[in-house]
Amino acid sequence: MGFDREKLREKIEKHLHAYVGVQSDTGTVHERNIEKFFEKWFEDVPYFKEHPEYRGIFPIPNDHLNRHVPWALLKGEGNETIVLLHHSDTVDTVDYLHLRELSLKPLELEKAMKEGKIFMPEDAKMDLDSGEWVFGRGTNDMKGGAVIHIAMMEEYAKLKDFKGNLLLIAAADEENLSAGAIGAAYLLKDLMDKFGLEYKLCLLTERDTSTEGRTLCDGSVGKIMPLIYVSGKIAHVGKVYDGLNPVKLLAKIVDYLDLNPEFIETNERATTPAPTFLYAKDHKKIYDVSLPAAASGFMSFYCFHRAPKESLELIRKACEQAMSNVISAINNSFTQYLQISNARKEPPEWKVNVKLYGELYEEALREGGDKFLTAIGKIKGEVKEKVRSGGMTPIEASHEIIEGTLAFAEDLSPTVIITLVPPYYPYVSNEKLKEKGQFIDSIGDMLIKYAKEKNGHEYRKVYMTGMCDLSYMMQTDDKETNDYIENNMLMWGDGYYIPFEKIRRISMPVLNVGPMGRGLHQYTERVFKPDVFYTIPDYVDFIIRKTLGHE
Ligand SMILES: [Zn+2]
Repeated sequence: MGFDREKLREKIEKHLHAYVGVQSDTGTVHERNIEKFFEKWFEDVPYFKEHPEYRGIFPIPNDHLNRHVPWALLKGEGNETIVLLHHSDTVDTVDYLHLRELSLKPLELEKAMKEGKIFMPEDAKMDLDSGEWVFGRGTNDMKGGAVIHIAMMEEYAKLKDFKGNLLLIAAADEENLSAGAIGAAYLLKDLMDKFGLEYKLCLLTERDTSTEGRTLCDGSVGKIMPLIYVSGKIAHVGKVYDGLNPVKLLAKIVDYLDLNPEFIETNERATTPAPTFLYAKDHKKIYDVSLPAAASGFMSFYCFHRAPKESLELIRKACEQAMSNVISAINNSFTQYLQISNARKEPPEWKVNVKLYGELYEEALREGGDKFLTAIGKIKGEVKEKVRSGGMTPIEASHEIIEGTLAFAEDLSPTVIITLVPPYYPYVSNEKLKEKGQFIDSIGDMLIKYAKEKNGHEYRKVYMTGMCDLSYMMQTDDKETNDYIENNMLMWGDGYYIPFEKIRRISMPVLNVGPMGRGLHQYTERVFKPDVFYTIPDYVDFIIRKTLGHE
């Protein structure tokens, strides 16, 4: 690396404390504090002070919190450009309990931890005593990685005749719905047209939490969020066979789908986690003696090559089996009830009834026509406002839209409705971008060799398996898949939107190499100093120079 190691360390350390000190809890107005940090930075760095046209604070389109994406372009020679991406938000700080006030002040937090003011698990205590880790909210995820980009931009900006361009992007909302990275797609397209940029690579410096060696990520697993809404039939608890309890049906559906190995996908490099439910409850708000009217749940569902359509059809099949199974169970129970009670009653007549939301919508439109369109338009407008003002969660909004549609359905028997809710993270992988991807693949191989020779680090290539902003740096799905998402995702265009065509135009290969971190999203969150100060800046420099043809 051509820079003075110690001077760069000083700069990184200074920025780390300052950036961690900026409160930027995800999904809150605090995220806007980041803008002030960058406004000051633009004034402090001579290159950006002198070139206001090469930096800015870009408003995220239609963002309910009016958040922005700070960006800075080092405009060198030629068109080849590397995007240096980080996310500027963090999870909140409640887990620091009585030390919450210190969670954004690494030095004071370290002192309090050393004085035993909070319980430290053994591994965290060892790291604390070693003095080699920086503790604090966001140190690991991912302000430690972010400040490597920020400090290095300053150093590169001092060089004369820089070959290629570097574009720093600070994305909001990564821990939530990735509004920052999705919004950045508009910015990246604008800057591409304005300055004639050719995107060669998006380089992320997200933490490396691998416990076996180190990881270089060149793709990210895809993820959808299917919501399953079960509309039952209300009955008095004294007459249970007159109704159908949606809790029983949802429980069976959860049992069929949760951790179902049929949905695990694998390729030669990685395996997706099995799906799991993040939420499952009935919709009763008070105690009364009726069966609940409805229940719903949604799950986190990972994918590689399986298209969303195929996944929803598999889920539909599982729901149909679950419903059939529950109907048999109800009939068995009823038969035994008759035997025990000697009563004479007609058996309940339930049928399997599972629909995608799009099918329910068509049915309601057929039945209700304009009346339905007016009613559903009104509901969508109302819930959009409520979500925007924080008075309603997107999930509650989804329920209202489904209920408003069900009200117009012809078939009022118990129904299972399957739909998608935000967010959607497309599966991305460099191999999808052919030669452009192969080129970055070869840079990755060179880095692996370099890291091994220089520091004995054993890197292996993996995909990111958490949701991550890289999902919005390339778009290679076919139009049919894009349309399917649009048509089957509630709130699409009403608070959630992915500009697939813009992303397709900016599509670039991706890499992630970041500092070792531990205690992710916990109060023991920490990042490894030697990585933040020396090792990763060296690797980032290596990737930049090789990609832009400096050597
Ligand atoms: Zn992160």
